[in-house]
Amino acid sequence: MTTNRSGIDHLLEANAEHSRIFRDPTTANRRRLYRVQHPTEIGASKCMDGRLHLPVITETELGIINPWRNLGGKFNLGWIGYQQTINGWVEYAMSKGRHCLKLVTYHYSRGDKHRGCRGFNYDLDQARVVTQNLKRQFDDSFGTSVVHTVQCGIETDLESLILHGDRGEIVDLAELGSPSREELEKLLRDLYPEMPDIVRNDFLPLLEGNIRHIAKIRASNRPIADAEHKEWVLALGRGFDWLHELNTALIVGPFDPNLASPIMTAGQLLLDNIKSRRVMGRDIVLMTSAPYRHTAGSEPRLAEQKARFLSTFAREVFEKNVPEIVPYLRKLTGIVDMNTRQFNVLERD
Ligand SMILES: [Zn+2]
Repeated sequence: MTTNRSGIDHLLEANAEHSRIFRDPTTANRRRLYRVQHPTEIGASKCMDGRLHLPVITETELGIINPWRNLGGKFNLGWIGYQQTINGWVEYAMSKGRHCLKLVTYHYSRGDKHRGCRGFNYDLDQARVVTQNLKRQFDDSFGTSVVHTVQCGIETDLESLILHGDRGEIVDLAELGSPSREELEKLLRDLYPEMPDIVRNDFLPLLEGNIRHIAKIRASNRPIADAEHKEWVLALGRGFDWLHELNTALIVGPFDPNLASPIMTAGQLLLDNIKSRRVMGRDIVLMTSAPYRHTAGSEPRLAEQKARFLSTFAREVFEKNVPEIVPYLRKLTGIVDMNTRQFNVLERD
C-alpha cells in the first residue's frame, strides 16, 4: 500500500470478490434457503466504528442483517431519512408476511475505556441510556410483537454480544461458556417474554454464531493492538455490507439531519490513525455509495445523484473542519447493485 491508487484498487478487488461469492449459486441458494427457514427480517443500528461487523461476529452470511450506521449508533426515529428507511423496511417485511427483529446496538471495550466508543466520549452509561431510549421509540411506534426491538451491546475485545432483557437484565454471551440450544432458547424466553417464537428461532443462530466466534477470538490470543482503530476508509452512504473486512472503514449512513457532525468525527478519527501511525503508508479513501435494486428506470440514476452529492458534501466538510486530512484523501464514488453487491464506479482518483 504505497502508491496513491492501491487503497482504492484493494477496495475494488475486495468488492469484486464479495460480489462473486454473493452471486455464486451455492451461496445464493444457501442464503435463499436460510431466508425461508429463518424468515424474520433482521436489522441493526450500529456505530460507524470499523470494528463492528455483525455478520462476522455472529458468523451470519452477508445479506441477512440489514445495517444502519451512524456515529455512536445514535439514531432518533424522528430523523426523516432514518424513519423513512426503517418504515420502508417494516412495510416490506409485512408485505412478505415476515416479522422484524431490530437490534439497537452500542459498543465498548471490557479491557480499556479508551478502546470504547468515541461517539459517546467513551461513556458506556450514556451509550446505554441513548440506545435504551431508541428502543423505547421503536416499541412506542411499532409495538413489541410484529417488530421486536432488542437493545444489544458489542464488546470489541472479545467481540461478544451483550443482551439487554426487556426487564433490565444484562447477559454477556462471553460469560455463558458453551450453552446448548435448549439453554439459549430458555435464556431468550426469560429475557424477552413477548418475543414471538418465530423471531426467537431466527435470533438463535446469531447468538450461536457469536458464541462460536468468541471461542475463536479467545483461542487466537490476538494482540490488543488489533482491537485498536486502524480504519483508512470513510464509507459514506449505504450499500456497504460487502465491505466485511474488520477495522477498515468508518461507515456513516445518510441519516443524521446534521450529517456534517458524524463526517467531522470520522475525519478526526482517520487523522488520529495517520498521526499515530496506525495506517502506515496507506491513502485515506473517501468512498461514497448509494444502493439500488431495480436496474432499469430512475433508481440507479437517483442513486448516482446521492453518491456524487455525498462525496462533494464530505469533501467540503473536511476542507472546512478537518483540513489536515485533505491532502491524504482519495476519492471513490459509486453505486451498488443490491442484487449482486457489485460496486459500479462513477468516479475515482
Ligand atoms: Zn463508536
